[in-house]
Amino acid sequence: MTLAETQNDASNNPFVALNYEPALESLGDDYYDEVAAAEFPQHILRWRNDALLPRLGLNPQLVTDEDFIVAFGKFEGRKPLLALRYHGYQFGEYNPGLGDGRGFLYGQVRGTDGELYDFGTKGSGRTPYSRGGDGMLTLKGGVREVLAAEALHYMGVRTSRCLSLVETGLPLWRGDEPSPTRSSVMVRMSKSHIRFGTFERLHYLKRPDLSKRLLDHVIEQYYSKIATEQDKYALFYAELVKRVAELAAQWMAAGFCHAVLNTDNMSITGESFDYGPYAFIPSYDPYFVAAYFDYYGRYCYSHQPLVCKLNLEMLQEPLKSVFAQDDMESGLSTFDEHYHNEYRSLMLKKLGFEQLSISDGEELLKATIEFLKMYPVSYHHFFAEMASSFSTKWGDNASDILRDSEIGQSLGATELFVNWSGIYHRILTNLTPEEVEKIGKCLTRYNPQTPLLRPVIESIWEAIAQENNWQPFYELLEKIRSGQ
Ligand code: AMP
Ligand code: MG
Repeated sequence: MTLAETQNDASNNPFVALNYEPALESLGDDYYDEVAAAEFPQHILRWRNDALLPRLGLNPQLVTDEDFIVAFGKFEGRKPLLALRYHGYQFGEYNPGLGDGRGFLYGQVRGTDGELYDFGTKGSGRTPYSRGGDGMLTLKGGVREVLAAEALHYMGVRTSRCLSLVETGLPLWRGDEPSPTRSSVMVRMSKSHIRFGTFERLHYLKRPDLSKRLLDHVIEQYYSKIATEQDKYALFYAELVKRVAELAAQWMAAGFCHAVLNTDNMSITGESFDYGPYAFIPSYDPYFVAAYFDYYGRYCYSHQPLVCKLNLEMLQEPLKSVFAQDDMESGLSTFDEHYHNEYRSLMLKKLGFEQLSISDGEELLKATIEFLKMYPVSYHHFFAEMASSFSTKWGDNASDILRDSEIGQSLGATELFVNWSGIYHRILTNLTPEEVEKIGKCLTRYNPQTPLLRPVIESIWEAIAQENNWQPFYELLEKIRSGQ
């Protein structure tokens, strides 16, 4: 072995050497199939998420690009790799032919925060569940998922994140990208890849024993605070309802449309993951549809809370073999309240207020949505301009609010804007100067200056596709990270 080969040997690789826990594996092989990764002609590291390494106990400065490539591009030295089995409702239709078709569970590790994390791959080759697919991920798809996860994370959404993106040198053919297009393999770090659809499959197979074993595992690992309670199942479901309701509110406040809220894309931990044809809304259009194949707008922007609630309700069917459905009904009945509380709180933060009376908050939120819905205003630029142009002088005069901004210039005299700024002004006049000072900081903290709108992503991709120029991609990620 040459020196270079010794250094790149998988056994010295910091990722391969992590202390993996066979958490899911220990439940037996009814939940997965052992698979092998594809071999690729090329491995070029395009993104490494150093921000995640300390949580794995790793010092980014001691981890080389080659370490990422050997572990998460060549998949050397790690076994077993598990394609997870699941079914799911896709656009309302039950599909028993799903499962990890282009990815696998690489391994599970305990973070320095004590939580269990999955490394899940996307684009790593065919599995028994690939059906007609090639098992691959386009490079553009990988770039889009990296961007979505980082943007959502820094906007306060409870989301998985990408650990690495390796370009793999295969030509891929896709109906929704100019083809041939480039290939990649992405590794995602998330709380879990157990989905609502994982339980739906066990119900379909009439295996309550496997459902119970899996549910006990989920509660122990991801709901550990209630694991020793006598009514742990009811408490688990109520907590899941809360997490999913809050997640839906986080998407809505972030102006995010996930686009494919099938039950195989709903995590049992209530975390957001799997970003395909998503989009951030250009304007406040409740019926904005992100996926070109969502012909009837089932997963449009404003349907997201309702769809999440429906998916939770449908999950009762497989779970009722483990505990009483009555215990779930009371949990589900709290969805709306959790959703509205989280949504109101997040939107008021975007408007600059960490705390506001319920009546002021409701009035301001209603006027804000009314105005955003009626006028052709960019949802994200409205909040970005609030942050960039805020002045404590706004408390002196309602007509000063946003006056020097693009939105103020174009809409300043319109009825709904005047109504909205009147309410905003009245709230300011009731605050102390110290409280008004804090608004600017709050606006900056919750409103990024560079929203991840589709034209932004497309221009990033064009630079990569045309000139293999990755600089705009890295610059955008840096802006996302720093909130610029
Ligand atoms: P998604 O829309 O990415 O959530 O995927 C839905 C299902 O289709 C999952 O079972 C995926 O594993 C599978 N799938 C998506 N794309 C491919 C592909 N290119 N090759 C094989 N399976 C795929
Ligand atoms: Mg999926």
